[in-house]
Parts: sequence; C-alpha cells; structure tokens
Amino acid sequence: MFEYTGAIHVHSVYSDGSGEISEIVSAAKESGLDFLILTDHNTLRALKEGYENCYDKTLLLVGCEINDKENKNHYLALGVNQTYSTRISAKEYVKKIKDSGGIGFLAHPHEKRTHMKEHPAYPWTEWSSTDFTGIEIWNHMSEWMENLTEQNKYQSFLHPLKSITQPPEETLKKWDELNLSRKVVGIGGVDAHAHKYNLLGFLEVEIFPYKVLFKSIRTHILTDEEILFSNSMFTKSKELVYNALKEGSCFVANDYHGDSKGFRFFAESGEKKFNMGSSIQLSKKVKLKVFIPSDNAFIKLIHNGKQIDELINNSAEYIIKESGIYRVEVFLEGKAWIYSNHIRIV
Ligand SMILES: [Zn+2]
Ligand SMILES: [Zn+2]
Repeated sequence: MFEYTGAIHVHSVYSDGSGEISEIVSAAKESGLDFLILTDHNTLRALKEGYENCYDKTLLLVGCEINDKENKNHYLALGVNQTYSTRISAKEYVKKIKDSGGIGFLAHPHEKRTHMKEHPAYPWTEWSSTDFTGIEIWNHMSEWMENLTEQNKYQSFLHPLKSITQPPEETLKKWDELNLSRKVVGIGGVDAHAHKYNLLGFLEVEIFPYKVLFKSIRTHILTDEEILFSNSMFTKSKELVYNALKEGSCFVANDYHGDSKGFRFFAESGEKKFNMGSSIQLSKKVKLKVFIPSDNAFIKLIHNGKQIDELINNSAEYIIKESGIYRVEVFLEGKAWIYSNHIRIV
C-alpha cells in the first residue's frame, strides 16, 4: 500500500481566507503535504481558473464548502464541477452532489460555541440525510475557537497547535452510531483561514498561518496504486485520492504530536488483508492488526462505539469472534494522536 498525507478544508482569498492560492500551495509544499484540498465557501473559482494541478510533489484539489440559507449544515463537496444555491436545503445539496458523482463530508457537525457573537456556531442539523460520504471528525479551527477564553486568548493565539486536544466526544459517538447502519467515513479538517486579528487594539496578528496549521490535523490515505506526481497523470491522481476518501481507506492524525506515517490498521482473513473501510465476513480466522510508528503509544480498540481493549505498545493483534464495526484510537503521551476508520465484520 502507498500512503499519502493531506490537509483537507482550506480557505483562500476566494472566500474568507487571507491567503492567495500560490501562497497556500507554497505552504503545503514546505510542509511536505502530498495533497491539499481547498474548500472555499460556495465557490469553485479556483477550479474554474485552472489552479487544480500538481505542484512538484503536492496535488492541489479544489472542492467547496456549501451552506444553507441559515448558514448551517456546512458541507465539504469534493470532486464536483458546480456548486449549488444556498437557497436549497442541505438534504437537497447533499443528494445532488452524490448524484453528480461527487463525495461530501459534514464539516464541524457539533459546533457549539456561544461566547463569540461575531463567530456563531455552524452545526449540522440535517441528520435525516443519508447521502453524505462521511464526517469531519476533527476540525482544528472549530476546536480552537471553542476552547478560546478571555483568560487564555494570548496563549491560544501564540500557540495555535497546543490548544488542540481531541475530537469532540459527541462527534465520535454519532460517527460510530451512523456506522452501525452504513459506512460513514471519518476525515480530519484544518479549516485554515489564516485570519488576521487585531489582538491588542494595535497589533495585527495572523492567526494560524497556513504553514503552522498544515502541521496539525491531517488525513492520511492508503492506496493500492502509486500516485505519480506529474501534470499528465493529474486526473488519475485526483481519482486515487478521492477514491481512498470515499472508501474510508484513510485515518486522521494530529501530526503535531508525532509523525503518524506508517500507522496501519487492517484485518486478516486467511491469506487476505483488508484495509480500513472494508467489510468482511466473520470466520474463525479473522484477525485485526495494528502497527504504530512509536514504541509507547496507548492503543484503544473500539467495537460498536464501546472501548473493548487498551494497551501500551507499538502493535496489537486481536482475534475477532464478534461481528460489528471496529476502529482504533491512539494516544501519545496522553494526547489524542490517531483515529482509524472502521473495519466492518459481518
Ligand atoms: Zn464551515
Ligand atoms: Zn470552513
């Protein structure tokens, strides 16, 4: 398998971000990202202007973040060629994106903040929709803003990566629940804007420069085929990235705590291996295996939303006797680090 690391959910000057596309691409290249997915609010301008391409060893893909008329139900639409009116309902745009062959992820579904009038919460409310591909289980910007208080704001502005602890419990719970009936893929989002804030009345600071944010919440994809970073292979490369996200062949990590490259969670049945996102038959020979690129990681195995095992090691192996959905969480020095997608055993 080939592993590629990406940052998903980024805003540019084409909506409310402060960075030009060229600056954002440079930051992604310097951060060593293999792919970057731009999602400006309700516009595909960067796509129409031809920015989607391969820049040395970094792919720039362009989707958009759609919202409804109440500015709720933010939806990351990827692999689409048109955006939709904010006057139509969330249920409708989710369906239209699926019907057009695109994929989509609920953005920051459980935002709650009430302490900033100028930045209200934008939660997901349209839970009757069943056409979305997945959920953003961890959103950097959303968590950072929620944790911001009058007392910690200077610390938070100075160290935007330190105030991030873990995905919302409510989101993880909902994600597991949804997976009991169908595959719902988990991804991580940075929601980078690089906003400029006037912190002390006279000092303008850029919060979350893109390059800083690209170190934190990343989505790693695993593909059977190698991605070739050349302009002539761009269409194929784009398909490989979106296909891995659609299938759930991916995991989410806060790489600020340590490089999670090399993490693996898969099932073995006889000679065959099944990656995250797979569904396999229960038999006497099903094993789940975990490999962690660190020696003192704390691994939790979650079955149907409940933790059933924990250990400290760089690997784990489980013989599976019960059907259901399995995923793992990994902590490093007490900090939330890696969230796998589910493997379904039926
Ligand atoms: Zn949003
Ligand atoms: Zn956003």
